[in-house]
Amino acid sequence: MSMELIFGAVIAGLVVMFLAGKHFSRKLPKETHFECARCGTVARHNDRTIEAWRNNKTTYFCQPCHLKWLHGRAPREREGGISPAGSRSGSRSGCLGVVVLFAVVPLAGFLVLHAYA
Ligand SMILES: [Zn+2]
Repeated sequence: MSMELIFGAVIAGLVVMFLAGKHFSRKLPKETHFECARCGTVARHNDRTIEAWRNNKTTYFCQPCHLKWLHGRAPREREGGISPAGSRSGSRSGCLGVVVLFAVVPLAGFLVLHAYA
């Protein structure tokens, strides 16, 4: 193996590890439960409230209150509003971007290796 080959493999490996670490070490709230800002019920954090927490929201709503809140809004307002549900589509596309990177980076590494081989 030539030095370029090893170098390319190491770089590709580092990039993949960096991306994997960034994706899988996403922060979680210290508390597993929260008090609903509407009815005061202590509820368990779910994907929606954790996403809200990551967006520096300080008030969370339990699932029944969240659904009531959704139904109480006009459909037009529901899109792109401040709803924690609205931020979910964004996180999904973010995940898709990471998946694409996972597919592209090793391929790019392979092509680099192939070019030097
Ligand atoms: Zn509630």
